[in-house]
Amino acid sequence: MTRPLIISDCDGVLLEFIAPFIAYLDSQHGLTLTLDSFALTGNVRRADGTAIDAMEFPPLLDGFFTTHMTTQQPVPGAVAALATLARDCDIVVLTNIADHHAVTRTSELARLGMPFRVIGNNGPKGAPIRALLDEFQPSTAVFIDDLPPHHSSAKKHVPQVHRLHMVAEPPLRHLIPAAPDADARIDDWDDALTHIQTILGAAK
Ligand SMILES: [Mg+2]
Repeated sequence: MTRPLIISDCDGVLLEFIAPFIAYLDSQHGLTLTLDSFALTGNVRRADGTAIDAMEFPPLLDGFFTTHMTTQQPVPGAVAALATLARDCDIVVLTNIADHHAVTRTSELARLGMPFRVIGNNGPKGAPIRALLDEFQPSTAVFIDDLPPHHSSAKKHVPQVHRLHMVAEPPLRHLIPAAPDADARIDDWDDALTHIQTILGAAK
């Protein structure tokens, strides 16, 4: 009997991203990030109020993960919820991050109480989710992410996977509407755990 598989995003689902990224932009680069809309690039500004160019953003993000990943703290409830799920489920973290950052992310998540396999991905997540299903052959699978396009990709490639849309960071909740291709929208880990356990129980 195979075990259920939980596939979770990291930034904005397991670890806080926005607050530590804003602190990094300020302390290391003298930049601000004001989230009036859910667009990181156009909302990063210099002291004079001008927005940075799109091509300036990727190095900032890479710099954050290189030197400040250790400032990212778990989202409330995530560690306890995953520890509970790990008793009966396999858990994989599928995160859009470069391979070399995925190594650090693995050790950081373990240090924070989430000792799970981490896969660094680039782009839509449907295909890597399908690869994980092929590998694990789980009895049932749940995918958790804060970005709607990943739920659309998952629906397209692996429609049988239960898709849970979670925006765990309060500053982003009102900026990201419920993903149309997700099965549920739950932003809190305590409620999400109950929901996932119901899904897993129904699949037995
Ligand atoms: Mg995310």
